[in-house]
Amino acid sequence: MKNFGLIGKKLNHSISPFLHGEIARIYKNNLAYQIFEIPEAVFFKKATNLLKEDKINGFNITIPYKEEVIPYLDTLSDIAKSIGAVNTIYIKDQNIIGENTDYYGLLELIRLNEIEVKDKNVIILGTGGAAKCAYRVISDLSGHATYVTRDKNNTNISEKVITYNDLDKVEYEIIINATPIGMYPNVDESPLSFDLVEGKTVIDLIYNPQKTKLMTYGGKSVNGIEMLIIQAIYAQNLWFNKSNEIQKEVIEELKELCNEYIRNTF
Ligand code: NAP
Repeated sequence: MKNFGLIGKKLNHSISPFLHGEIARIYKNNLAYQIFEIPEAVFFKKATNLLKEDKINGFNITIPYKEEVIPYLDTLSDIAKSIGAVNTIYIKDQNIIGENTDYYGLLELIRLNEIEVKDKNVIILGTGGAAKCAYRVISDLSGHATYVTRDKNNTNISEKVITYNDLDKVEYEIIINATPIGMYPNVDESPLSFDLVEGKTVIDLIYNPQKTKLMTYGGKSVNGIEMLIIQAIYAQNLWFNKSNEIQKEVIEELKELCNEYIRNTF
């Protein structure tokens, strides 16, 4: 049995233990997964000791620690380094390595849903960790990404960034929502009004509710559940040193299970 954990600040409704349990069942990984709800980042010193003493074999990291964890790690993958955020930690040859499997989650979501990104103008709402991940994915797929922020003075973004007031002056075909606006329980909220979304492709990183208000405004629209599932499969592949392919049937099975879990939990 190998032991893993999720480190974050508010984890009482986290779906991760359930999801990792189901992935472990499907791929026959002998996994135990526990929650570490911690008030501040100093816990990471203890977490690295747990890894080095072989008491825990890996961690997931969530809000608000995806950036704060970095100084405690020995190495970062190229993807995690360029995004500046880590959601998965594993140990190899006594080195504590940080990876960002959200990147692969979004990349595969775009591929599975046959969303054509090459040469398209994509606006990314928000400038947090998920937005930076989306920017890297879109750039790697040869799309043209622009961040949309509430306040340009409040970001440390060096790439193209505009405010919501500029949106009627720019062309875009795809919208990625990387803000929490529209997430349960605030399901009647949308980060953009209907006229700014009509006919556009929407990728909403939110997965509860299944169809956000923003998605109802758009043309082709997908939520973030596949990204969530795929980032978790990638994490277990790193932890168990496997290379399980992403299969549509497995994703569909996990989607049904996760949606049922969310229905019964919230
Ligand atoms: P975050 O670091 O807190 O960033 C969220 C960004 O949203 C902020 O940087 C902010 O950008 C904007 N924002 C925050 N409050 C807002 C408000 N009231 N109105 C408008 N904009 C607001 O969070 P994150 O980790 O990047 O996650 C963002 C979203 O993606 C969350 O809903 C999260 O659940 C989702 N997510 C999903 C997955 C998945 O697997 N599906 C993975 C990661 C994240 P500005 O200050 O620049 O406006």
